[in-house]
Amino acid sequence: MAAALCLVSYAQTGPDVLIPKPVSATLLPGETNADAAVKTVIGSRKFKAAVKGLPDYAAKEAYRLTIKGKTAVVEALTEEGAFRGKSTFEYMKKMSPDGRLASCVVFDYPRLRHRGLMFDISRHFRDKNFILKQLELMASIKMNVLHLHLTDDAGWRIQIDKYPKLTKMAAWRDKALWKDWNETGHNYAKEGEPEAFGGYLTKDDVREILAFAAERHITIIPEIELPGHSLEVTKAYTETACLDSTGSSPVFTSDLCPGSDFALQMFKDILDEVIELFPSEFIHIGGDEASKSAWGSCPRCVSRMKANGLKDVDELQSWFVRQFDEYLASKGRRLLGWDEIMQGGLAPGATVMSWRGTEHGIKAASAGHDVVMSPENWCYINRNQDNPLALGEFVGGYLPLSRVYEYNPADGFTDTAHLLGLQGNLWTEHVPTDANFEFKAYPRAFAIAEIGWSPQEVRDFDEFRPRAVLLADYIRGLGYNPFDLHTEWGERPEKGREVSHLARGCKVVYNIPYSDKYPAEGDESLVNGLQGGWTYVGGRWQGFQSDFDVTVDLGKKQRLSFVGGHFLANIGAWIGFPVKIEIQTSDDGVNFTPCFETYCQVKAADDGAQYVLLGDFIDAEARYVRIKAPRYDRPYHDWLFIDEIIIK
Ligand SMILES: [Zn+2]
Repeated sequence: MAAALCLVSYAQTGPDVLIPKPVSATLLPGETNADAAVKTVIGSRKFKAAVKGLPDYAAKEAYRLTIKGKTAVVEALTEEGAFRGKSTFEYMKKMSPDGRLASCVVFDYPRLRHRGLMFDISRHFRDKNFILKQLELMASIKMNVLHLHLTDDAGWRIQIDKYPKLTKMAAWRDKALWKDWNETGHNYAKEGEPEAFGGYLTKDDVREILAFAAERHITIIPEIELPGHSLEVTKAYTETACLDSTGSSPVFTSDLCPGSDFALQMFKDILDEVIELFPSEFIHIGGDEASKSAWGSCPRCVSRMKANGLKDVDELQSWFVRQFDEYLASKGRRLLGWDEIMQGGLAPGATVMSWRGTEHGIKAASAGHDVVMSPENWCYINRNQDNPLALGEFVGGYLPLSRVYEYNPADGFTDTAHLLGLQGNLWTEHVPTDANFEFKAYPRAFAIAEIGWSPQEVRDFDEFRPRAVLLADYIRGLGYNPFDLHTEWGERPEKGREVSHLARGCKVVYNIPYSDKYPAEGDESLVNGLQGGWTYVGGRWQGFQSDFDVTVDLGKKQRLSFVGGHFLANIGAWIGFPVKIEIQTSDDGVNFTPCFETYCQVKAADDGAQYVLLGDFIDAEARYVRIKAPRYDRPYHDWLFIDEIIIK
């Protein structure tokens, strides 16, 4: 009997394990063995009838998988659809611990046509083998686009024959870590030098990646960034940089010079080589975050603006982007860019990738442009996904799996005809290794895959999470390094707990105003009893790009026993702890008496986030309490963040 108790009886593995969740799945009586023969039927009249009425892009990928008896039959209109159906069968087999599968019929097709990931391989280079490994996993969850961010200040990552300095010099830097490189003057190195860090994809690498991706029906979209994020280009080819106002020496701002004919021709030449390699309909030209700071005084830019009747630098950017829109169109390709390409007027053929919130994408779509949604608050999967005390360096908000999953790309659209799909973006400033990359990518990419494929009405996070755990555990066994959902903390516990104290609801006078960028909930934020979450983003922590100095009016004279405040530090986001807090009290709000000062005894760490309650006990009576907290005069201590003032 004891032995019998140890036996584990598995039910057959059914379609309920799948990510993404299929449109429909019906169980049939009986079970099927995982070694069932797979039979593919393409283009049958019966299947054509089944997909009638679906949009073309969905019908193309649609399949019906019937697992019954000794066979698994995949019906589809196209090879791509058949591939998706076979992937579904393979997935169920992999998830089956004992090779027993539930007999079933799965009828399935995608919600959206673009289901992508973006890999930034500039900030930290990832090589061919790493990319192939990720493509394999992406295909198994029915993702169909990999966007490669190939060029940026921190390194040029693709062989271009006509401009060899891009890979002999711009692909290499003097520091392995982006962070160190960024803090030490952005120095490049030469290929082959012992202290040269970086690398690039050769054209042969790219061809191998493309062939591997094509077999899995994944499109690779190359991104060649312009005119911003191009310091590496301007350093390798100084003709592409702006000039100072006298026209005698180059100015390196990380923007290209849109007035430079050399730059214009160079990027057309580069695109020629890129187009020759990549068959994708879309070519991404970046277009984000140009500082434009040198353009107003650069004589070449000024004369370009004059010659073309452009009234400001925004229109100059728009003019520059338009040149490439026309150029790509002349080659039968389409321009894709980050939403900043809308500044100064959107080029007529341009497709927009909306990252700064959702409104730019919605606006572009209503003007008739195609859009891909990758709003940073849901889709930037490099962001912190759990307790940063445990996870280390990050920038930006708290983005757990649940938050990614709640995103609906159709939100805010009145018409989704131009909504191509969505994409999870993985920027790598703080992602130095393969392992760290995979840790951030998975399982959050699973959520992106399901959002893009499954109908909105069948999605439910509580039901999705166990499937994500299952798949994450499985890929860990294959040598991937996903974040471990078994150990997930969830949101900072303090965020869910209110604090009661004497200052709650009292008037706060800001002797130095808080930043417009991080107002939290305005003037009441520091006395509302609500504590912050893991990160400075999210509306609980109030930010000051200055010293901190407020006065709290308690309404009447009271006996006080404690005064303090909760501060957050996150050096990666340039947020430090204050040097100290100084407390003064007053009866009339005019004449203040110094009460105590207490130094912060925790040094802000180089990575991750930290939290302190800085304060002390007092024995005083007062109506007004002034709290000052000066910043450190140190690098990366630009900001102070506080979520609550505690007065007892
Ligand atoms: Zn210029």
